[in-house]
Order: sequence, then C-alpha cells, then structure tokens
Amino acid sequence: MKLILLGAPGAGKGTQAEILSRELNIPTISTGNILRAAMKNGTKVGLEAKAYVEAGKLVPDEVIIGIIRERLAEPDCAKGYILDGVPRTIPQAQAMEDMGIGVDYALSIEVEDQVIVDRMSGRRTCKDCSSTFHIVFNPPKQEGICDFCGGELTIRKDDAPETVKARLVTYHRDTEPLKAFYAERGKLRTVDNQPSIEATTAEIRKALEI
Ligand code: AMP
Repeated sequence: MKLILLGAPGAGKGTQAEILSRELNIPTISTGNILRAAMKNGTKVGLEAKAYVEAGKLVPDEVIIGIIRERLAEPDCAKGYILDGVPRTIPQAQAMEDMGIGVDYALSIEVEDQVIVDRMSGRRTCKDCSSTFHIVFNPPKQEGICDFCGGELTIRKDDAPETVKARLVTYHRDTEPLKAFYAERGKLRTVDNQPSIEATTAEIRKALEI
C-alpha cells in the first residue's frame, strides 16, 4: 500500500498514520517529524527549515523533495509507505510523480477549520518519538508521558493558536489543490472526520477497501 494522507494540520493524519502503519506493517514517513528531528539536532536542513516551521509556513519544495527522495530509497519503504504531510504543494506532487514514486491512494481527511483550531490546543507530542496524544480525545495512560516510549509530552511551538491559523491559510491555498491533482488521476478518496479516532479509522478502511 502506497498511501498519501491529505488534510489540514490537526485533521488526524498523524494519528491515523500511526494506526494504519501498525496494521499494515509499513512505515509512516512524516516530513514534519523529519524536520523537527533535524531542527533538534541542528543539522543543515534543520537550520534551513526552522524559521518557516516556526512561522507556520511551508519549507521550500526543493528541501522537501530532497528529504523524500532519500527517505523513500531506504529498504523499509520497498513494500509500501504512508506519507503524512507530504506532498503539500503541486510542485512537490509533480516532482514525486516525475521521480516515479508510486501512489495507490491519496486519502483526504475532511475537518472544519474551527474544529481544528479547538482541537490543536489539546494536542501533545512526544519529545522523543513524535507520537501524538490529545488531552481529551486521546489521553496518554499517564499524564505528560508517552505511552509508547516513556518520553516527555510537550506542546509543539507551531500548535499555538495564531500559528495554527497561519497553517490553515497555507493549507487552503497551497495544499488543498492536491485533491484535484489526485482526483484527476483517479486516486483521491475522502472521509469526513468522525466523533472518535476509531470511527475515523473505520471510515478510512471502508474508503480504501482494507
Ligand atoms: P506537520 O507536522 O506535518 O504539521 O509539519 C509541521 C511543519 O513542517 C509545517 O507547518 C511546515 O512548516 C513543515 N513541513 C512539513 N512537511 C512539509 C512539506 N511537505 N512541505 C513544506 N513544509 C512542510
């Protein structure tokens, strides 16, 4: 399965990617996680990306295309992958197509902007393994501690309400046109956000026939 997850920031792409990745036994590639790790480690890519990420803007396409080219060439991607947060612009999607990166489906999780803004304030992210939780909808077993690796849960800087609003503007302007791009290729599937994580996963299974 070669799957792209589309949807606004906070639509639940990361959460659903974690579930599908475990079920299908294929890796999730999240450019957001790769960039945050690069920023934490102070690498060249990290230094280049920092100002964009912190302002809720998109990192330049050539940086992202380089990351994806390298990551998808690794052996664990041979059986399939879930792309979370990439492509995010038409040029990224076009570059991936030109590189021969396969896509079976582009799945869009549809959520109203106001729901996103409300939801992001409760999101917590593991400092070490990047797993995400929500203080109400998906709480960790122990407050402030990651269920998976025991790492400390933190609030992402770019989850601050003003930055979330900027990220939504960017999403509608630059990323939403990807729905038409993949619809033209017969690859687009859409699901509406459901009241629970499990119900959204069930809708995704139906949409992808898995
Ligand atoms: P995410 O964790 O997917 O919400 O990504 C966090 C931030 O990383 C975004 O707001 C962007 O600044 C940057 N980013 C992640 N993926 C991409 C991408 N495919 N293209 C451009 N910027 C990206």
